[in-house]
Amino acid sequence: MSLSGGPVVVVGAGQAGSLLAIYLARQGHEVTMYESRPDLRRHDIDAGRSINLALATRGIVPLIDVGVIEHVDAITIPMRGRMVHVPDDPTPDLQPYGTQAHEVIHSVSRTDLNAILLDAAEATGTVTIEFDAQVESVDLDASMLRFVGGRAEPFGVVFGADGAGSRVRKAIAAKGAGTFKTEWLDHSYKELTLPPAADGTHRIDPNALHIWPRGQFMLIALANPEGDFTITLFAPTETFDQLATPEKVDAFFADELADFAAHVPDLADQFFENPTGPLGTLRATGWSFEDKAVIVGDAAHAIVPFHGQGMNAAMESARSLHAHMVANPDDLAAAFGAYETQRKPDADAIADMALQNYIEMRSGVIDPDYLAKRELALALEQRHPDHISPRYNMVMFSTMPYSEAMSRAAIQGEIISSAIADSTVDVDALVAELPALPALDALADPNALTNTPFPAGT
Ligand SMILES: Cc1cc2nc3c(=O)[nH]c(=O)nc-3n(C[C@H](O)[C@H](O)[C@H](O)COP(=O)(O)OP(=O)(O)OC[C@H]3O[C@@H](n4cnc5c(N)ncnc54)[C@H](O)[C@@H]3O)c2cc1C
Repeated sequence: MSLSGGPVVVVGAGQAGSLLAIYLARQGHEVTMYESRPDLRRHDIDAGRSINLALATRGIVPLIDVGVIEHVDAITIPMRGRMVHVPDDPTPDLQPYGTQAHEVIHSVSRTDLNAILLDAAEATGTVTIEFDAQVESVDLDASMLRFVGGRAEPFGVVFGADGAGSRVRKAIAAKGAGTFKTEWLDHSYKELTLPPAADGTHRIDPNALHIWPRGQFMLIALANPEGDFTITLFAPTETFDQLATPEKVDAFFADELADFAAHVPDLADQFFENPTGPLGTLRATGWSFEDKAVIVGDAAHAIVPFHGQGMNAAMESARSLHAHMVANPDDLAAAFGAYETQRKPDADAIADMALQNYIEMRSGVIDPDYLAKRELALALEQRHPDHISPRYNMVMFSTMPYSEAMSRAAIQGEIISSAIADSTVDVDALVAELPALPALDALADPNALTNTPFPAGT
């Protein structure tokens, strides 16, 4: 089946593109997916480093939906809370994410997850993937993709899953159908590796997301199955600019992150070998052009990574787009419009919450006021599980729209602040009056990921 009288094309074979290709195949379409990079299943595109991401409920649901969850289960490591490392304290503090067993997030290799989705796309029999095919521009008048190198290919409809620098989005905006701007943060990031111990095991607890909060900056660590950790330093860009020599890098880590630095003898080498990345929030309106083009994932809503939700949101958006296409099989333009109408407020909400979470991670987790509020929120959740859930948990462990999670969290926050300020406030009565929390998506099996390679508490 073809749409709009021509080939169905996806640009970008990341998580959003490869998942969307599976959904489009399920709708009965023949799909060609163009990816600028080589096939990551056959080439080392991460320069030998393992880069991992936090996978949570909103990403798990589409993976269940397209039937790959068992494969994903085999490559994830559960993280049951934040392990907070403060200076001069050899014993880090575990702050559990929730009070229920399934309230864990999962460390997963970006490459391995993408490979599972690429395999599943190809296994449909109707998705063809062309690697090393970089789209230079999208001509929406002539319905042609123009590639670096001069080649051109026609399309009937083009799905832009081509990430934050999306060419498809630029073409939509050039037609006057959309606008976009990136709000850059004055903070940047750098990924490093904490190697395994001599016996190949993890040097620190693999079943937690480690944070070294330092006020203006922070370091985080997520475990990989091979015994190493992917480390990310988030800091003001001017801090990175100041760390211009190996001596300055070594001194910085010795002063600020000594317990971490003790595990990594080649810190300065890694620091200069690995790139420093910018951090920004993409605000885009006009996600589609007629029935010819639509954008999904980071192409529509790239966000800062502090809530670990960019990929989860990208996959949730791909599923939403699919649902709107199924609901409007004869009017693609209407499907695309309905998808944006539904999804844009949620994209804006998670963008804002991700920015706010940076403050929480780099300083809130050691702020007594924050900790008291979080403790009360978790206690209230245990007493009123149908009416209240901490904001982090609504984002990570529910499928309610992000915009609803944000507005509920604002009301809950007021109740909790009033109870902390005034012990006579009947907080239980206030919480019992809150509207009931919506049910999880029917597909959301909270225990879908069973893989626990390391017993809790190790
Ligand atoms: C440091 C960091 C940590 C993060 N941690 C998390 C986390 O823990 N959890 C989480 O959910 N999210 C996380 N994210 C966000 C996550 O990486 C992204 O939101 C997610 O990868 C978006 O998927 P996507 O498929 O939309 O885009 P991408 O993954 O960017 O995929 C786009 C694809 O399109 C291809 N492409 C681009 N341009 C072209 C072109 N012109 N022609 C052809 N192909 C093209 C690219 O090569 C790429 O394969 C993190 C991001 C960063 C930077």
